Amino acid sequence: MAGAKTLKEVSKLPKTMHERLERALKLALEEVERRNARIVGIQLPDGLKHYVPEIVDEFEGRGIETLVSGKATYGACDVDTELIREVDVLLHFAHEPIGIEFDRVVFIPYTYDYDIQAVVSLAERIEEKMISLVATSQYVHRLEDVKEELEKLGYSVSLKRGSNRVPKAGLVLGCNFTAVNRGAEAIVFIGDGLFHPRGAAIYSGKKVYAISPLERKLRIVKEKEVQEFLRRRYALVAKAMDCEVFCILATSKPGQNRVKLALELKNDLRSKGKKCYIAYFDEIRSENFPCDCFVNTACPRIAYDDWKKFRKPVLTPQEMEIVIGKRNWENYEMDEIL
Ligand code: SF4
Repeated sequence: MAGAKTLKEVSKLPKTMHERLERALKLALEEVERRNARIVGIQLPDGLKHYVPEIVDEFEGRGIETLVSGKATYGACDVDTELIREVDVLLHFAHEPIGIEFDRVVFIPYTYDYDIQAVVSLAERIEEKMISLVATSQYVHRLEDVKEELEKLGYSVSLKRGSNRVPKAGLVLGCNFTAVNRGAEAIVFIGDGLFHPRGAAIYSGKKVYAISPLERKLRIVKEKEVQEFLRRRYALVAKAMDCEVFCILATSKPGQNRVKLALELKNDLRSKGKKCYIAYFDEIRSENFPCDCFVNTACPRIAYDDWKKFRKPVLTPQEMEIVIGKRNWENYEMDEIL
């Protein structure tokens, strides 16, 4: 590998980004060398695609051919199975594996080495003593350290291992909250954004403290935010009660494929006299499918986050069960892939 330009020499990335990317690339290059791969596939989430020129240079400067996946990449559920056929190894960056075995795919972590003391100092505002600690994939690798520091402050900390889909203790995904310990008095989430903390609040019924290491802020998920989210979902469910034609969305993406569930939902709808059919995609779209309502079996976040892109209600499977009277609103659950 001697003689090739390093990322620092060819890139204008900020220092922290250099360090994270260099760490990821070091692992990736070791893996390529170990496998003696001559042509590698590179798959990046959209947020990292603007670093493609620098990343490609790192490999091609060493005489290794690259093919970069052009697919939108949302998670480890979304491995580019077409690209695997063209390369010796596919390097899938920035996601934790989700319990599905892929031949010749290596998941390369892109983690953020956050300041544990800064995180723990924010925890002073946590009133409850028995807490369940969770994080997203960028932050999960340091949860043992956070746990240790919180325990020194007198907290009893649960770091629970969830279902097979989330192989690391405390790891939560937008489609899986099983690492949340519902027996704790409160949940402490480490990560960015509000989707996961709000999901953890609905999943557990407990108070959720969300700590962002990037912003160095602690935020408590307000009951009114949870209620607002549920009100929006309830409005969609109410609207769907009058719908007659349902289009069930299913995907070929390996970690989001729930065709079996789609078939069950179709039977349930038909048994209630509704017209319905399954539309099967790689990338879920809504155009050209006549219906009054969609039911989503692909990534759960499509129903929760992307509903504005659809001109019809988009329900989760659980919400559809409420529409056809198979479930009560009181038993509302977040849609999860286990
Ligand atoms: S299914 Fe959706 S939420 Fe789950 S890992 Fe994939 S992209 Fe993330």
